[in-house]
Amino acid sequence: NGEHNLKYGTPKKIIVCGGDGFCGWPTSLFLSEIGHEVLIVDNLSRRNIDNELEAGSLTPIYPISERIDTWKQLSGHELRFERLDIANEYERLLQLLLREKPDAIIHFAEQRAAPYSMKGSSQKRYTVHNNVNATHNLLCAIVESNLDIHLVHLGTMGVYGYGTSGGEIPEGYIDVVLPGGQVSNILHPSYPGSVYHTTKCLDALLFQFYQKNDAIRITDLHQGIVWGTNTQQTRRDERLINRFDYDGDYGTVLNRFLMQAALGAPLTVYGTGGQTRAFIHIQDTAKCIALAVGNPPNRGDRVAIFNQVAECHRVRDLAKLVSRMTQVDIVYVSNPRQESAENELQVSNRKFRSLGYEPILLSEGLLDEVVNVAQKYAHRCDPKKILPASYWNNKRREECERYA
Ligand code: NAD
Repeated sequence: NGEHNLKYGTPKKIIVCGGDGFCGWPTSLFLSEIGHEVLIVDNLSRRNIDNELEAGSLTPIYPISERIDTWKQLSGHELRFERLDIANEYERLLQLLLREKPDAIIHFAEQRAAPYSMKGSSQKRYTVHNNVNATHNLLCAIVESNLDIHLVHLGTMGVYGYGTSGGEIPEGYIDVVLPGGQVSNILHPSYPGSVYHTTKCLDALLFQFYQKNDAIRITDLHQGIVWGTNTQQTRRDERLINRFDYDGDYGTVLNRFLMQAALGAPLTVYGTGGQTRAFIHIQDTAKCIALAVGNPPNRGDRVAIFNQVAECHRVRDLAKLVSRMTQVDIVYVSNPRQESAENELQVSNRKFRSLGYEPILLSEGLLDEVVNVAQKYAHRCDPKKILPASYWNNKRREECERYA
């Protein structure tokens, strides 16, 4: 309808790389619901990592073909799926672009857990190989296809290194005074805190180069930690349900707290809990991506960078919020991560706000997560998987083991 077209733009053909994952699946459904033609590309590596870690999603994840059939039955919309490894199957990727001629590609297809990327040499090497090649192959294939495809990438707030610019974090670019006194607006310096975050910084440099050299339209979304499990679309049938990861590697801090609360176990805060993190609800992830697809940069414009964030909280305040809601105690444990004990974080999200984004806040939706996800599926949880399973270095490991 007219109102929809104003906000999200006209219907497009979109390839969603990583569309079987936690962010990719609900985003694919949302894009399909609002009238886009969606083709999911995924190598299902995330399902294999579940097997490797012996730690699955708390919610039951159905096979991709069943997910797609269910969506067709319920909505009448067709989703297509292609199993393809975009980091290792360049020729197939190129042929796919030439055949499908998409208007946009959304790139979720990376190894996204910081703790997993620090687990050991093989996971460090896999994360760099997979993430950097996935991004570079997409850029190369867009150039080689000669098509005008808008690339929308999911980056992370972590590229900024949490609060290091000393004030509100701007959207991607920052004014600096050069030694001669001139002011220049440059890509915000990056301070990654893990191998995973480092790959996102490398992605940003690849985007900067390919935009300058080949005038590709690129949007890089610096996203906060995504919370929430279901969206209006995934709630329609259990076969559409989204992932809920609670394990020490893939479970984000909030999911860990929710899981511990559902089991009546104390909430484990790392260090002083003074780390401030940015958050966004999964439904808003999908909406922001739809807004980004509907508002591509002009050809020749520099990489468009948005902070995809709703609100910021200190980890210990988050623990207090969950504790108040569930009457579960908080315990402070050694931090497996090498990071500052305390940090401030203020983030600008003006660009999405100006496009009409009104975020869902933790205070509104958290109880639903406690009751309808963590408690409902608590019987599927393996409590041994909640505590840290990866350490940033040997010093952190020894300290964590000493105080365990
Ligand atoms: P996820 O692991 O659930 O999903 C990633 C999907 O990509 C999986 O289905 C996986 O099988 C697929 N994939 C990985 N490598 C691939 C390859 N080489 N070829 C094809 N498919 C491949 O992760 P997620 O939480 O949905 O995150 C998606 C993106 O969003 C990531 O890039 C992540 O960095 C970013 N992000 C996520 C969060 C969060 O809180 N989840 C926060 C900020 C940014």
